[in-house]
Amino acid sequence: MRCPRCAGTGERELLWPHGGESATTCDVCDGTGEVPEAAGAAADRSRSPLLDRAVTFRRTRDPDAPYEADVDGARWRIALVGDAVPFHVLYIDDVEVLRFDAWPSAWTRS
Ligand SMILES: [Zn+2]
Repeated sequence: MRCPRCAGTGERELLWPHGGESATTCDVCDGTGEVPEAAGAAADRSRSPLLDRAVTFRRTRDPDAPYEADVDGARWRIALVGDAVPFHVLYIDDVEVLRFDAWPSAWTRS
């Protein structure tokens, strides 16, 4: 299926609320413009201890990264990716570290 994140272009614009933007290879399809069914969510559903940490996120005004938190001096951001089958992407200091579908029960949204 066509990548829902970049609409098949293989690239996407990064636009962070603290300023700056850049084009980058799409993090969902790795630049191919195509993703497996289920938007690749199943491929990265591995459990991570990060998902079990007690973290409180605050709402941002960025629709691409609607939640952020400061954890041990690092900035965590959550992006919501995909339309038909949305899943979450965790960025720590703007580096993608994890994808997951359901919001972890250990995490709070303030
Ligand atoms: Zn893509």
